[in-house]
Amino acid sequence: MSESETEPETETVSCLYPGCESPAVPPPKHGGPPPRYCDNEEHNASSAYQAMKKLEEEAAS
Ligand SMILES: [Zn+2]
Repeated sequence: MSESETEPETETVSCLYPGCESPAVPPPKHGGPPPRYCDNEEHNASSAYQAMKKLEEEAAS
């Protein structure tokens, strides 16, 4: 069984968290900015920033 891949007008936004390939949660029906992260509670702007910083430090060392 495959999930529906024929949703019209659905902008696929991947989670911005480094290394995460999950799709971001759908935007709220009542408007507002669409989420940029998946439904993982640990994936948000703050933790993504920390993770990216850590990756940069590891790459630099
Ligand atoms: Zn994620």
